[in-house]
Amino acid sequence: MSIKRRFAAAAAVLTTALILTACSSGTASEEASGDVSRGGGLTGDTIRIGIKYDQPGLGLKEGDTFSGFDVDVARYVANALGYDDDHIDWVESISAQRETLIQNGSVDLIFATYSITDARKEQISFGGPYFIAGQDFLVSADNTSITGPDDIGSSILCSVEGSISAERIRDEYSSEVQLYPAQTYSECVELLSAGTVDAVSTDDIILAGFAAQPQYEGQFEIVGNPFTEEKYGVGLAKGNTELCEAVNDALTTMFDDGSWEKALSDNTPSDYSPNAELNPPTFEGCE
Ligand code: GLU
Repeated sequence: MSIKRRFAAAAAVLTTALILTACSSGTASEEASGDVSRGGGLTGDTIRIGIKYDQPGLGLKEGDTFSGFDVDVARYVANALGYDDDHIDWVESISAQRETLIQNGSVDLIFATYSITDARKEQISFGGPYFIAGQDFLVSADNTSITGPDDIGSSILCSVEGSISAERIRDEYSSEVQLYPAQTYSECVELLSAGTVDAVSTDDIILAGFAAQPQYEGQFEIVGNPFTEEKYGVGLAKGNTELCEAVNDALTTMFDDGSWEKALSDNTPSDYSPNAELNPPTFEGCE
C-alpha cells in the first residue's frame, strides 16, 4: 500500500467514524420522526438503491435475497452512510431507466454496472468509479467467426436499450450490424441460447456471470478480447457533491480494508480475471 493510499485510508476511516458518531447522536424525537442525520446529506430513514435484478454475480434478486458485486459494494457504502442492511430499499434499475430514476428522485444511489460517460454526466453525477470492466462478446461455443469487434459485419447482436454496448459496435465498428432490441441482459442471453442472435456484447464481467450459470454450462464462450474501459460509477443526483464525496470516502475505505477485493472474488467466477492494472480504480472526482 502506498503512503498516499495509507493516508487516504486513514482519512476515510476517520471520516466514517465521524459520520457514525454523527448518526448515533440523533435525538429521540429525530429518531421517532425518521429524521436522523446520515452521511452525505441524506436524511431519510431508508436509503433507496438502484441495482440490476437479473445479472448473476452483479445484481441478482432471488426471492427476498439480493446478491452480487454491485449489491455488496452498495451495502458497504450504505452502511458507511449510516444505513444498516434493514434500512436499504432495493429498486430495480434496468439500463434504460437509470438516469430517469435518479432525476425523478426514485433512488438515492445506483450501483448497476453503470458506466460513467460524458452524455450521462450531463444528466446526473457519478461517485467512483469502483470497478473498471471491458466490453467483450458472448457467443455460442461453436462460433469461431467472431473474435472481436472488427468481425461483426452484419451479424445480429442483442442490444439492451439504454446501454452503450451495442450502439458502440454500430457507431464505431460496423454500420451493417443488426441490433436486436431487448430490455435486459438475461433476455439477450436467452436469445443467444435460442439461436435468435449471433452474439451478446457488453461488459466482460456481466458476460462472465451469465456464462457461469449451471443451465448454460458448455453452451457459450467469451471471446476474451476486451476492447473498452467501462468505469462503473455510483449514479446520484447531478451536482450533489456532498453525497458524491461521502460515497467516495466509503469506497476508499472499502478498497483499503480488503472488503472490495473480497466482494469481487466472492461474486465472480474463478475463470474471470479483472484487469489488475486498472483495478481498484482511481476516482474521477466529484466536481
Ligand atoms: N456498462 C454499460 C452501460 O452502462 C453496459 C452495461 C449495462 O447496460 O448495465 O451501458
